[in-house]
Amino acid sequence: MPRKTVVKSRCALCGAKEVSEPRGEEKYCRDCWDKKIAVEEIVAREFALKRYIRAHSAENISSITRRSSARAAS
Ligand SMILES: [Zn+2]
Repeated sequence: MPRKTVVKSRCALCGAKEVSEPRGEEKYCRDCWDKKIAVEEIVAREFALKRYIRAHSAENISSITRRSSARAAS
């Protein structure tokens, strides 16, 4: 029995035959790469924003406690 040795790269997400820029194990078509990158950008942005807010609010809390303790001392 003849075996098919040609492995067709298909998009892992939508099954499109045209797979562009396979990165590592992942093979997606251009549309799915665009979607995937867009989602990753949103997730990264939200993560950075949360980290910023957390750092910023921690800074505010420490400055508030510092101010109130200074007021109590005077
Ligand atoms: Zn696709």
